[in-house]
Amino acid sequence: MMKVPKTINLTDRMQEQLPSDLLDFIKKAGEAAQKHQQRLYLVGGVVRDLLLERSNFDLDIVAEGDAIKLAREMAHLNRAKTTVHPRFGTANLLWAKRSADITTARTETYEKPGALPTVKPGTIVDDIARRDFSINAMAIELNPRHFGEFIDLHSGRRDLKRQVVRVLHDNSFIDDATRIWRAVRYEQRLGFRIEPATLKLLKRNVAMLSTVSGDRIRHELELVLKEEEPENAIKRAGKLGVLNRLHPSLKGDDWLAETFALARERCLPDNPPPNLYLALLAYRLTADETEQLISYLRLTKATAQLLRDTSAIKAKIKELSAPGLAPSLVYDFLHGYSLTALTAGVLGAGSATAAEHIELYMNVLRHVNPVLSGDDLKKLGVPEGPKIKDVLQALREARLDGKLDSKEDEEEMVRGLLNPP
Ligand code: ATP
Repeated sequence: MMKVPKTINLTDRMQEQLPSDLLDFIKKAGEAAQKHQQRLYLVGGVVRDLLLERSNFDLDIVAEGDAIKLAREMAHLNRAKTTVHPRFGTANLLWAKRSADITTARTETYEKPGALPTVKPGTIVDDIARRDFSINAMAIELNPRHFGEFIDLHSGRRDLKRQVVRVLHDNSFIDDATRIWRAVRYEQRLGFRIEPATLKLLKRNVAMLSTVSGDRIRHELELVLKEEEPENAIKRAGKLGVLNRLHPSLKGDDWLAETFALARERCLPDNPPPNLYLALLAYRLTADETEQLISYLRLTKATAQLLRDTSAIKAKIKELSAPGLAPSLVYDFLHGYSLTALTAGVLGAGSATAAEHIELYMNVLRHVNPVLSGDDLKKLGVPEGPKIKDVLQALREARLDGKLDSKEDEEEMVRGLLNPP
């Protein structure tokens, strides 16, 4: 007698792990899809994490057929904020701190390595086949009669058990080399290994990273820097020759790991902002190399400024390492830089004295201001124009160095400046 494959049903697992409102959401979505004779599936990271018993409440849902109509219906039911991309057949719903992506099942063909694929509507089988790794290529059906049925066409569950990250076909990294960064990220996040044949393909195709736009690489790097311990992926990327495709001078070494760990300690109870990690990653580049990284990754103006500020602070570490520096000098060295750049300076300084000076600036000196205002100075007889700014600066410097304590001290100093002896 032929053996009928046993269907695995993950309803119990979903009931245990998903908050009841989300379970309710996917059930209703399945019912709505059924009404329109569509098939609907939960896919991607949330399925992987259900099986790993890791919490993940970012729903990724795929519909065979028009996803947008369905998304609008679900948005209406949940009073969700909806962002729709009709060209891609995708919609994102946001409600009460919840998020769901609902997309039309599609098939992708890659005409040129690194370029975005040509996309056509397809079936769930196509949609699964376009995915990066077997562990991200599992699905759960949501239509009422098949609710909870597990679809695993690429042995994702076996790979979860074997704890490996495996591509679905040999051309995967050629089609889309961002998957190289993704493989490293999942491997390190989950404590898995990149499966041996996949690792061979990865190493063979590292050069394909140059076929991908800086924007797409930046996006993957941002995802790395949002990980709990990004240094693990950066270190591994360093060993695989992936990191130096970002810039040949970047290093994923012990210094980086220690400095990232210090950043975490410092930012408790929160995680460090990803940009702080980025500033530390770029810390040891020269100013020219920093510019090269900025333009390759097409960083935003603000992020580019952060890297430039960090580089400028690093250039002053030697001066800031002098013991007993006058506070007004410390202020002059550090005034105008962002707090994130200053924090990167503290962490990267490699000099306790320089770090103390930067901390002093961050905690105390940057808040020091004269009591007298520009108007007060005018009343005391300082002529309008640049002189006001000069006097305010002289007052601030004297305050910083502890030479003035009160409003009266300041007034006396102003009178002294106006009528030198
Ligand atoms: P998580 O880390 O929890 O998986 P994520 O934000 O990294 O979340 P996304 O980047 O949002 O995951 O991707 C969602 C799903 O889309 C993945 O699980 C994967 O199946 C698929 N995917 C994303 N990027 C690619 C890619 N470059 N190639 C193929 N599939 C991809």
